[in-house]
Amino acid sequence: MRETLVLNASFEPLATVSLRRAVVLVMQDKAVVEQAHPGLRIRASAVEMPVPRVIRLSRYVRVPFRRQAPWTRRGVLVRDRHRCAYCGRRATTVDHVMPRSRGGADSWLNTVAACAEDNHRKADRTPEQAGMRLLTRPFEPTPSESLLFSLGADGRAALPQWLARPA
Ligand SMILES: [Zn+2]
Repeated sequence: MRETLVLNASFEPLATVSLRRAVVLVMQDKAVVEQAHPGLRIRASAVEMPVPRVIRLSRYVRVPFRRQAPWTRRGVLVRDRHRCAYCGRRATTVDHVMPRSRGGADSWLNTVAACAEDNHRKADRTPEQAGMRLLTRPFEPTPSESLLFSLGADGRAALPQWLARPA
């Protein structure tokens, strides 16, 4: 994980920051290290400390408005755990449930992960027209979930157990 995950004082994931920024926050007592890279230490000024993977703000930050998670193809694949919504096998493509040629949007609720074969078979048709059934319903991830997605699979796997893992 190149980025350090920042949790609010309430443990809710807030953002990711560079390692340098994370170290500064900890040195200024604005955050505490919740999880560090095992065996790695960083020297900053005259202080040596573990390399933070997750830090938590000492004071609660009120977040008045949380933007909805922006839609991305990669995000859809991660949300669906790279599993095809039609057959459950490994998915490498993103299918528009309502095809784009019929006005289907690039949105969380209109897209699912699909294997190349099923995506090709469905083509410019709705699942009903193609006689294909969705095994799972697409859903809109929360900003927190989206943040965890953005860390990538390796980054998420390295997170502490108590952090929610959407994928
Ligand atoms: Zn499939």
